Amino acid sequence: MYQEPELRTKSKQRFSLMLPAMCLGVAAMFGYFGLLMLVRADVVAWARNNFGADSEPWIMMAMIIPSIFIFLLPSYVAEQKAKRYSISCPNCCKDLTLSIQRILKTRCCSNCEKRIIETGRMRSNDLYARYCRRQWRNYLVYWFWAWPAGGIVMLIWHRFDSSAFNDCPQMIFLFGLIGSTATGWTLIRTNDLRYLAQTITSAVLLVVGISMFLQ
Ligand SMILES: [Zn+2]
Repeated sequence: MYQEPELRTKSKQRFSLMLPAMCLGVAAMFGYFGLLMLVRADVVAWARNNFGADSEPWIMMAMIIPSIFIFLLPSYVAEQKAKRYSISCPNCCKDLTLSIQRILKTRCCSNCEKRIIETGRMRSNDLYARYCRRQWRNYLVYWFWAWPAGGIVMLIWHRFDSSAFNDCPQMIFLFGLIGSTATGWTLIRTNDLRYLAQTITSAVLLVVGISMFLQ
């Protein structure tokens, strides 16, 4: 059995590790793209000299791919560090780390539905699901549409003014890239299919953006 203050503390400690890590991931990715802009011409010229003109799209792809890992690495490290704040059900042993808010509301395990917080009134998971549909989780579902929306704006902009991003061509696929990784990561971690459409849309925009970027 858990005590409510104990769970609240763990939840806060985990959040205080994960939030800066996610911000760091975004900042590091922008930093990487900044660096890429500085060295891009030299690297492309080097690839041309050594591997011929056909190697240009491939070397560009090879330079883009690390940005995904740079974006995810701080979150991954923080996730490993946050394991000490993880909690699991005393009855069925299911990992409930990502369900702390749910447990605080329902007082029971989301898997076996046995009580795991000593005090307070128990509520059913169905009731909690209804509560969730109206609450903050919805904001995240909508918020993840911001990346595809930004990506579409960039593609349209690029379509009408192909010189608009001459100084920063990565902008054409950047929103698709952040959207795919952030939403895809959330989808994998939560198994919540409400993130699926955003992930697919971001991935399509990423592929379209990269193919336009390489033209
Ligand atoms: Zn359980």
